[in-house]
Amino acid sequence: MPAAILDGKKLSADIISGLRAEVVAREQDGLAVPTLAVILVGGDPASQVYVRNKRNACEQIGIRSVMHTLPDTVTQAELLALIGELNHNIDVHGILVQLPLPAHIDPESVIERIEPHKDVDGFHPCNIGRLAVRMPDLRSCTPYGVMRLLALAHDDLKGMHAVVVGASNHVGRPMGLELLLAGCTVTTCHRFTRDLASQVAAADIVVVAVGKPGLVKGEWIKPGATVIDVGINRLPDGRLCGDVDYEVARERAAWITPVPGGVGPMTVAILMENTLRAARKGDRVVTEMLLQQAGV
Ligand code: NAP
Repeated sequence: MPAAILDGKKLSADIISGLRAEVVAREQDGLAVPTLAVILVGGDPASQVYVRNKRNACEQIGIRSVMHTLPDTVTQAELLALIGELNHNIDVHGILVQLPLPAHIDPESVIERIEPHKDVDGFHPCNIGRLAVRMPDLRSCTPYGVMRLLALAHDDLKGMHAVVVGASNHVGRPMGLELLLAGCTVTTCHRFTRDLASQVAAADIVVVAVGKPGLVKGEWIKPGATVIDVGINRLPDGRLCGDVDYEVARERAAWITPVPGGVGPMTVAILMENTLRAARKGDRVVTEMLLQQAGV
């Protein structure tokens, strides 16, 4: 029997409607409108699509998104200065810098400049560090979105063998930390891993985040495993596909994510959740300021 589909589109829509209700309740309580500053540098077409999807989600929920579009000639100092201003602006709760950035800008310095409590992508070393020491706060969107999809398939992940293929700072590494936090035994594979096939074949859960179509062969999948394909690749004919050989893998797996419609929409939903979480942090900052002004 083919694998059951882990439907990220539906789960994401459910999360978004729950967040909409929370924003309405905030309005009724007279709290600030959650506000996300979105910084887009240059005219990369894929980045423009991602930013548009994120802003559409904001609109559906009632989150205000404020766009900062910068030319690809912007200097690193100018970009860091803008982030500094947004850090100090109490009306801005979350800051998102769409990646990739032009080659002359160091993405890690940019991410580090964002105040951790406004880091709605969950990329700041403080937020990744919190996850590593089992004190998660703003969690990296894609890995946490994967965890929410896994919860549809499994009540408890404790003791399962999870194999993560890909070890980037923004996906593979925090993914391994999330799975470890959930009690899995985790193996992380990267470009120097020997015999990727046998690592994948041992997995109860496989999460693939590399960006190479067909890297993980369907016949490697252990029968009954759960397969999460994070990869997004554009084929020469214009279609999108993941990193896993989907047609064969779905005949062996118990659960599988499609591409598109699996992990992608979840990344956006968690970004929205993080923005609401950051807005709640902002509420506390404002309350403390008012108490201080009142001399309490
Ligand atoms: P990345 O920064 O390029 O990282 C790719 C990772 O794959 C690296 O850790 C690299 O290893 C590893 N790798 C390369 N070749 C490998 C091989 N043959 N075997 C095993 N590992 C190998 O990419 P990323 O940002 O993590 O994104 C990965 C994919 O996910 C891309 O297709 C991206 O578009 C997609 N993505 C999707 C979403 C979503 O919402 N669905 C979100 C983010 C990313 P080294 O560390 O050794 O170089």
